[in-house]
Amino acid sequence: MSRRLVKSGFLLALLALAVVIGGTITISPRARFMLGGAMVNAGYGLQDGIHDYEFHHHEGLKPEEVWKEFLAQNHLASLVRKQFPRSTPHPLVAIVVCMDSRVDTIELAGDTRKYYYVVRTAGSVMSDHEEEMLELAVANGVKVVVLTTHSDCAAEKIAKDPEKRKLYPALAAAIDEREKRVQELLARPVIAAKIKSGELLVKRMHIDTPTEELLSTH
Ligand SMILES: [Zn+2]
Repeated sequence: MSRRLVKSGFLLALLALAVVIGGTITISPRARFMLGGAMVNAGYGLQDGIHDYEFHHHEGLKPEEVWKEFLAQNHLASLVRKQFPRSTPHPLVAIVVCMDSRVDTIELAGDTRKYYYVVRTAGSVMSDHEEEMLELAVANGVKVVVLTTHSDCAAEKIAKDPEKRKLYPALAAAIDEREKRVQELLARPVIAAKIKSGELLVKRMHIDTPTEELLSTH
């Protein structure tokens, strides 16, 4: 039996165990939430340290091989989801986050229940359509919008470096207008009205990239 099948089987067994625990054992919601979080972290622990599996020989990999592996992993994940459908609560929080792969928005929220709209852009900069999408999310019941930046941001580094600005002018210009975009969002009719009435909180936070801790910007 291949290593892939053994690992897939093991992960499926863990998932089945989680479903059984979640569905049949009467424990408090808090205990279920904490146990679920522990099992998610057990999954991260199992997968994170595997550097000799599939993507290990980065240098020699051809794009087609990477794509095939990506697709195979998606097929496995969707197979699991067909067997074990997720619940889909209405989001209460919308988060704007840079596209940096080190920031994992599930970890950021400490929660896998899909209570979050996530907008991921280069340098956490909103454009017109993202502002409108957030306004729509708020109109549909989102109560907290979290606008983030993060440490060691590649887009910010480019904006600060005159030579790199020449190579990536649009990205640098986007970072320059990030604050203006925030002010635009705050001034949008639905957003401004709900902040005024106390139905919406908009928080500005800075993510410590290695730990994903949300830090106040003030
Ligand atoms: Zn970034």
